[in-house]
Amino acid sequence: MTIITRFAPSPTGPLHLGHAYSAIISHDMARKEGGKFYVRIEDLDQSRSKKRWENQIFDDLDWLGLSWDEPVVRQSERIGRYKNILTKFSKELGLFECVCSRRDIKNALSAPHESETLLGPDGIIYPGTCRGKTFSSHLKFKNALRMHVKLNENKLFSFCELGPRKNEISFSSEEFAKTVGDVVLWRKGYPAYHLACVVDDFEQKITHVVRGLDLFDATKIHTVLNSSLGFKKPFYYHHRLICDENGKRLAKRHDSKSIYKYRQEGFKPSDVRTLLGC
Ligand code: GLU
Repeated sequence: MTIITRFAPSPTGPLHLGHAYSAIISHDMARKEGGKFYVRIEDLDQSRSKKRWENQIFDDLDWLGLSWDEPVVRQSERIGRYKNILTKFSKELGLFECVCSRRDIKNALSAPHESETLLGPDGIIYPGTCRGKTFSSHLKFKNALRMHVKLNENKLFSFCELGPRKNEISFSSEEFAKTVGDVVLWRKGYPAYHLACVVDDFEQKITHVVRGLDLFDATKIHTVLNSSLGFKKPFYYHHRLICDENGKRLAKRHDSKSIYKYRQEGFKPSDVRTLLGC
Protein backbone atom coordinates (compact mmCIF):
# COMPACT_ATOMS: atom_id res chain seq x y z
CA MET A 1 0.00 0.00 0.00
CA THR A 2 1.28 3.48 -0.85
CA ILE A 3 0.87 5.67 2.21
CA ILE A 4 -0.94 8.91 1.47
CA THR A 5 -1.25 11.51 4.22
CA ARG A 6 -2.29 15.12 4.38
CA PHE A 7 -2.03 18.28 6.45
CA ALA A 8 -5.26 20.26 6.35
CA PRO A 9 -4.89 23.72 7.88
CA SER A 10 -7.52 26.44 7.90
CA PRO A 11 -5.92 29.69 6.69
CA THR A 12 -7.34 31.75 9.53
CA GLY A 13 -4.13 32.59 11.38
CA PRO A 14 -0.46 31.71 11.68
CA LEU A 15 0.74 28.13 12.04
CA HIS A 16 1.88 27.41 15.59
CA LEU A 17 3.92 24.62 17.14
CA GLY A 18 0.88 22.32 17.27
CA HIS A 19 0.35 22.66 13.53
CA ALA A 20 4.04 22.10 12.88
CA TYR A 21 3.89 18.91 14.93
CA SER A 22 0.90 17.64 12.92
CA ALA A 23 2.48 18.55 9.59
CA ILE A 24 5.84 16.97 10.48
CA ILE A 25 4.33 13.67 11.68
CA SER A 26 2.08 13.47 8.65
CA HIS A 27 4.88 14.38 6.23
CA ASP A 28 7.43 11.99 7.77
CA MET A 29 4.96 9.10 7.92
CA ALA A 30 4.43 9.30 4.16
CA ARG A 31 7.98 10.17 3.10
CA LYS A 32 9.57 7.37 5.14
CA GLU A 33 7.60 4.88 3.07
CA GLY A 34 8.01 6.67 -0.25
CA GLY A 35 4.40 7.79 -0.07
CA LYS A 36 2.56 11.03 -0.82
CA PHE A 37 1.93 14.02 1.40
CA TYR A 38 -0.72 16.58 0.46
CA VAL A 39 -1.58 19.98 1.83
CA ARG A 40 -5.29 20.73 1.80
CA ILE A 41 -6.49 24.26 2.46
CA GLU A 42 -9.69 24.14 4.52
CA ASP A 43 -10.98 27.60 3.68
CA LEU A 44 -14.72 27.12 4.03
CA ASP A 45 -14.97 29.83 6.66
CA GLN A 46 -15.03 32.66 4.13
CA SER A 47 -15.05 35.45 6.69
CA ARG A 48 -11.92 34.26 8.53
CA SER A 49 -9.91 32.64 5.74
CA LYS A 50 -7.28 34.97 4.27
CA LYS A 51 -4.91 34.58 1.34
CA ARG A 52 -2.06 36.06 3.38
CA TRP A 53 -2.40 33.27 5.97
CA GLU A 54 -2.41 30.69 3.20
CA ASN A 55 0.82 32.15 1.81
CA GLN A 56 2.34 32.17 5.29
CA ILE A 57 1.39 28.48 5.75
CA PHE A 58 3.24 27.43 2.60
CA ASP A 59 6.19 29.60 3.51
CA ASP A 60 6.41 28.06 7.00
CA LEU A 61 6.04 24.49 5.71
CA ASP A 62 8.77 25.13 3.18
CA TRP A 63 11.02 26.62 5.89
CA LEU A 64 10.39 23.53 8.06
CA GLY A 65 11.81 21.50 5.18
CA LEU A 66 8.54 19.78 4.32
CA SER A 67 7.71 19.10 0.68
CA TRP A 68 4.19 18.39 -0.50
CA ASP A 69 2.69 16.74 -3.55
CA GLU A 70 0.41 18.41 -6.06
CA PRO A 71 -2.40 19.21 -6.39
CA VAL A 72 -3.14 21.44 -3.44
CA VAL A 73 -6.87 21.12 -2.80
CA ARG A 74 -8.84 24.18 -1.69
CA GLN A 75 -12.22 23.37 -0.19
CA SER A 76 -13.74 26.70 -1.28
CA GLU A 77 -13.36 25.48 -4.89
CA ARG A 78 -15.30 22.27 -4.22
CA ILE A 79 -18.66 23.48 -2.91
CA GLY A 80 -20.49 21.95 -5.90
CA ARG A 81 -18.92 18.57 -5.18
CA TYR A 82 -20.14 18.55 -1.56
CA LYS A 83 -23.64 19.53 -2.73
CA ASN A 84 -23.68 16.64 -5.21
CA ILE A 85 -22.68 14.17 -2.52
CA LEU A 86 -25.47 15.34 -0.20
CA THR A 87 -28.02 15.16 -3.00
CA LYS A 88 -26.89 11.73 -4.12
CA PHE A 89 -26.69 10.17 -0.66
CA SER A 90 -29.51 12.01 1.09
CA LYS A 91 -31.31 8.75 1.87
CA GLU A 92 -28.28 6.89 3.16
CA LEU A 93 -27.43 9.85 5.39
CA GLY A 94 -30.97 10.19 6.71
CA LEU A 95 -30.65 13.84 5.70
CA PHE A 96 -33.27 16.32 6.87
CA GLU A 97 -33.65 20.09 6.70
CA CYS A 98 -33.45 21.82 10.04
CA VAL A 99 -34.90 25.26 10.61
CA CYS A 100 -34.13 25.44 14.33
CA SER A 101 -32.19 28.38 15.67
CA ARG A 102 -29.80 27.89 18.58
CA ARG A 103 -32.48 29.34 20.83
CA ASP A 104 -35.11 26.85 19.51
CA ILE A 105 -32.75 24.01 20.35
CA LYS A 106 -32.03 25.34 23.84
CA ASN A 107 -35.76 25.88 24.48
CA ALA A 108 -36.62 22.38 23.30
CA LEU A 109 -33.99 20.94 25.58
CA SER A 110 -35.16 22.78 28.65
CA ALA A 111 -38.74 21.51 28.15
CA PRO A 112 -39.71 18.80 30.64
CA HIS A 113 -38.83 15.22 29.71
CA GLU A 114 -36.50 16.27 26.90
CA SER A 115 -33.04 14.78 26.75
CA GLU A 116 -30.43 16.44 28.93
CA THR A 117 -28.25 19.18 27.47
CA LEU A 118 -25.23 17.15 26.50
CA LEU A 119 -22.33 18.42 24.50
CA GLY A 120 -20.92 16.18 21.79
CA PRO A 121 -18.18 16.72 19.19
CA ASP A 122 -20.72 18.62 17.04
CA GLY A 123 -22.00 20.79 19.89
CA ILE A 124 -25.32 20.46 21.72
CA ILE A 125 -27.02 17.16 21.05
CA TYR A 126 -29.94 17.99 18.81
CA PRO A 127 -33.36 17.25 20.36
CA GLY A 128 -34.77 16.03 17.03
CA THR A 129 -37.35 18.77 16.48
CA CYS A 130 -37.15 18.82 12.65
CA ARG A 131 -36.37 15.12 12.26
CA GLY A 132 -39.01 13.33 10.27
CA LYS A 133 -40.00 16.37 8.21
CA THR A 134 -40.66 15.30 4.66
CA PHE A 135 -37.44 15.61 2.81
CA SER A 136 -37.50 17.54 -0.42
CA SER A 137 -35.55 15.84 -3.16
CA HIS A 138 -34.85 19.27 -4.66
CA LEU A 139 -32.44 20.46 -2.07
CA LYS A 140 -32.23 24.22 -2.00
CA PHE A 141 -29.27 24.30 0.39
CA LYS A 142 -30.82 27.31 2.12
CA ASN A 143 -31.54 25.69 5.45
CA ALA A 144 -29.22 23.68 7.62
CA LEU A 145 -29.05 19.97 6.82
CA ARG A 146 -28.51 17.31 9.45
CA MET A 147 -27.90 13.60 9.20
CA HIS A 148 -29.74 11.05 11.27
CA VAL A 149 -28.36 7.65 12.12
CA LYS A 150 -30.97 4.94 11.78
CA LEU A 151 -31.34 3.20 15.10
CA ASN A 152 -33.43 0.25 14.00
CA GLU A 153 -30.41 -1.25 12.24
CA ASN A 154 -28.43 -1.28 15.51
CA LYS A 155 -25.13 -1.00 13.70
CA LEU A 156 -21.63 -1.23 15.09
CA PHE A 157 -19.09 1.24 13.71
CA SER A 158 -15.34 1.13 14.16
CA PHE A 159 -12.12 2.83 13.17
CA CYS A 160 -8.50 1.86 13.54
CA GLU A 161 -6.46 4.19 15.75
CA LEU A 162 -2.68 4.04 15.37
CA GLY A 163 -1.73 6.99 17.61
CA PRO A 164 -1.06 7.05 21.37
CA ARG A 165 -4.55 5.63 22.00
CA LYS A 166 -3.77 2.74 19.66
CA ASN A 167 -6.79 0.46 19.41
CA GLU A 168 -9.74 -0.56 17.27
CA ILE A 169 -12.34 1.98 18.43
CA SER A 170 -15.92 0.78 18.12
CA PHE A 171 -19.29 2.24 19.03
CA SER A 172 -22.92 1.45 18.31
CA SER A 173 -25.51 3.53 16.48
CA GLU A 174 -27.34 3.96 19.82
CA GLU A 175 -24.22 5.27 21.49
CA PHE A 176 -23.67 7.65 18.57
CA ALA A 177 -27.25 8.93 18.76
CA LYS A 178 -26.88 9.56 22.50
CA THR A 179 -23.45 11.15 22.55
CA VAL A 180 -23.24 12.87 19.15
CA GLY A 181 -26.75 13.12 17.69
CA ASP A 182 -27.92 14.53 14.37
CA VAL A 183 -24.78 16.17 13.02
CA VAL A 184 -25.01 19.34 10.89
CA LEU A 185 -23.60 18.72 7.40
CA TRP A 186 -24.63 21.98 5.81
CA ARG A 187 -25.09 25.41 7.32
CA LYS A 188 -25.50 28.99 6.09
CA GLY A 189 -24.80 28.10 2.46
CA TYR A 190 -21.65 26.08 3.18
CA PRO A 191 -20.72 22.48 3.89
CA ALA A 192 -19.73 21.68 7.45
CA TYR A 193 -16.14 20.67 8.19
CA HIS A 194 -17.11 17.03 8.86
CA LEU A 195 -18.64 16.53 5.42
CA ALA A 196 -15.93 18.32 3.46
CA CYS A 197 -13.18 16.52 5.36
CA VAL A 198 -14.61 13.03 4.76
CA VAL A 199 -15.32 13.66 1.07
CA ASP A 200 -11.84 15.08 0.49
CA ASP A 201 -10.01 12.39 2.45
CA PHE A 202 -11.80 9.79 0.36
CA GLU A 203 -11.36 11.49 -3.00
CA GLN A 204 -7.69 12.27 -2.31
CA LYS A 205 -7.27 8.58 -1.38
CA ILE A 206 -5.80 9.45 2.03
CA THR A 207 -4.72 6.21 3.73
CA HIS A 208 -3.66 7.72 7.09
CA VAL A 209 -5.35 10.73 8.66
CA VAL A 210 -2.93 12.44 11.07
CA ARG A 211 -4.30 15.13 13.40
CA GLY A 212 -4.52 16.15 17.06
CA LEU A 213 -6.31 14.28 19.81
CA ASP A 214 -8.77 17.18 20.04
CA LEU A 215 -10.45 15.64 16.98
CA PHE A 216 -10.57 12.10 18.34
CA ASP A 217 -14.33 12.24 19.05
CA ALA A 218 -15.02 13.92 15.71
CA THR A 219 -13.62 10.79 14.09
CA LYS A 220 -16.76 8.97 15.23
CA ILE A 221 -18.72 11.37 13.00
CA HIS A 222 -16.31 10.74 10.13
CA THR A 223 -16.63 6.99 10.61
CA VAL A 224 -20.42 7.14 10.41
CA LEU A 225 -20.18 9.38 7.36
CA ASN A 226 -17.74 7.02 5.64
CA SER A 227 -20.03 4.11 6.35
CA SER A 228 -23.17 5.91 5.10
CA LEU A 229 -21.43 7.09 1.94
CA GLY A 230 -19.85 3.70 1.28
CA PHE A 231 -16.33 5.21 1.46
CA LYS A 232 -13.26 3.18 2.40
CA LYS A 233 -12.09 4.07 5.91
CA PRO A 234 -8.61 5.51 6.37
CA PHE A 235 -6.41 4.69 9.37
CA TYR A 236 -6.23 7.40 12.02
CA TYR A 237 -3.30 8.74 14.00
CA HIS A 238 -4.38 11.25 16.63
CA HIS A 239 -1.24 12.74 18.13
CA ARG A 240 -0.74 14.34 21.54
CA LEU A 241 -1.59 18.03 21.79
CA ILE A 242 1.07 20.69 22.12
CA CYS A 243 0.26 22.92 25.09
CA ASP A 244 1.41 26.25 26.50
CA GLU A 245 3.11 26.75 29.89
CA ASN A 246 -0.28 26.49 31.63
CA GLY A 247 -1.15 23.21 29.99
CA LYS A 248 -3.65 24.80 27.59
CA ARG A 249 -3.84 23.56 24.02
CA LEU A 250 -2.23 26.02 21.61
CA ALA A 251 -4.65 28.13 19.59
CA LYS A 252 -4.31 30.78 16.88
CA ARG A 253 -4.16 33.46 19.59
CA HIS A 254 -0.86 31.99 20.85
CA ASP A 255 1.09 34.25 18.56
CA SER A 256 4.23 33.76 20.65
CA LYS A 257 4.27 30.09 19.65
CA SER A 258 3.77 30.77 15.96
CA ILE A 259 6.34 29.38 13.57
CA TYR A 260 7.14 32.79 12.14
CA LYS A 261 8.01 34.08 15.64
CA TYR A 262 10.45 31.20 16.07
CA ARG A 263 11.88 32.02 12.67
CA GLN A 264 12.29 35.68 13.65
CA GLU A 265 14.04 34.64 16.84
CA GLY A 266 16.63 32.75 14.83
CA PHE A 267 15.43 29.19 15.44
CA LYS A 268 16.37 26.62 12.84
CA PRO A 269 13.94 23.96 11.56
CA SER A 270 15.96 21.35 13.45
CA ASP A 271 15.46 23.37 16.69
CA VAL A 272 11.69 23.21 16.15
CA ARG A 273 11.91 19.45 15.68
CA THR A 274 14.00 19.14 18.85
CA LEU A 275 11.50 21.28 20.75
CA LEU A 276 8.68 19.02 19.61
CA GLY A 277 10.63 15.79 20.02
CA CYS A 278 10.08 14.65 16.45
N1 GLU B 1 -8.87 22.28 9.28
C1 GLU B 1 -8.84 21.45 10.43
C2 GLU B 1 -8.05 22.16 11.53
O1 GLU B 1 -7.25 23.05 11.22
C3 GLU B 1 -8.19 20.14 10.10
C4 GLU B 1 -8.71 19.00 10.82
C5 GLU B 1 -8.25 17.67 10.20
O2 GLU B 1 -7.04 17.47 10.07
O3 GLU B 1 -9.11 16.88 9.88
O4 GLU B 1 -8.25 21.85 12.69
